[in-house]
Amino acid sequence: MGYERENIRRMAGYTPGEQPDGDQVIKLNTNENPHPPSPKVMTTLKAIEAETLRRYPSPTAATFLAAAASYHALAPDQLVATNGGDELLRLAITTFVEPGQPIGIAAPSYSLYPVLADIHGSPVHAVELADDWSVPETFAEQMNAAGAPLTLLVNPHAPSGRLTPQREIAAIASALNGVLLVDEAYVDFADPGHDVTGLVQHHDNLLILRTLSKGYSLAGLRLGYGIGCRGLIAPMAIKTRDSYSVDAVADAVGAAAIEDQRYARQTWQSVRAERERVITALRERNFQVPDSQANFCLARLPANAARPARDIQEGLRQEGILIRHFDTDRLADCLRISIGTTEQNTRLLQRLWEWMC
Ligand SMILES: *Cc1c(COP(=O)(O)O)cnc(C)c1O
Repeated sequence: MGYERENIRRMAGYTPGEQPDGDQVIKLNTNENPHPPSPKVMTTLKAIEAETLRRYPSPTAATFLAAAASYHALAPDQLVATNGGDELLRLAITTFVEPGQPIGIAAPSYSLYPVLADIHGSPVHAVELADDWSVPETFAEQMNAAGAPLTLLVNPHAPSGRLTPQREIAAIASALNGVLLVDEAYVDFADPGHDVTGLVQHHDNLLILRTLSKGYSLAGLRLGYGIGCRGLIAPMAIKTRDSYSVDAVADAVGAAAIEDQRYARQTWQSVRAERERVITALRERNFQVPDSQANFCLARLPANAARPARDIQEGLRQEGILIRHFDTDRLADCLRISIGTTEQNTRLLQRLWEWMC
């Protein structure tokens, strides 16, 4: 017996995707951006001075916040900088949910959500997505009936890549009694035109999660942020957030990354082009692949596939090609494939065809 709380003893913990050493592997399992960060990021990193490390950082990550606010044409106090998007999820739960109150999620989605709910001592109220992974029309109604003070919705959806359009997000926010956190970890890869950030001016319960991990190729830096109206942001920014959860390096480097939109957009464009190529190739081989607006796709095996998805994933893994398989009812015959560089994708597809027959 240990000393931990009862709910911590019972829970299993989050299983991160495999992070192997070495650069021989083709790593298409955790949705990183396959392109390196902006050269301006690297210049900023190299210019960090000893004095910057000796002193405590800005408690609000002011340099980054100013850059992010300017990018979104919002005021800095409508944003909160966090240690990865994951910290924003934890903050939202700590700030808006009494322990024991249910946390609303759409299922399936990010497997960290139930883990965070477990830590908080809250049950999850899961509403199943439709067969095409769309959000059911009664979604908000069901969350209200469950009494969920916070609902988490990932958009574009993981693991399918499906994008819920802006007007549906607005309708859900309007109908919900509690806070709607829209997890936009992958939104940078959506086709240009989709942008719900403006909705925070009209919906005082809408909290948007962004991260530099995917779109800006900075998963190793640990920097994310939340966007919302001041009333939603202030309790997190002023009260529940750790004083220095974003360090001085992330503050400076994150600002450089978000300011270099030209570079980031090039990487997004390249991922989109490759995404379409990979999806087309998979469909030609009779995989069922929903349209994706993220940097991954979800490929359901053809009914006559020679092996189950799990064996294919394991076979590829032994060859040094990592993709993801989820051992759950609705996803057991699917492979989730992060979009890599052209060479990586080509290699993956070649090997995948071999394992298919
Ligand atoms: C990657 C991811 C996040 C945030 O990741 P961080 O690296 O902590 O910024 C949040 N939600 C989903 C669905 C993700 O895939």
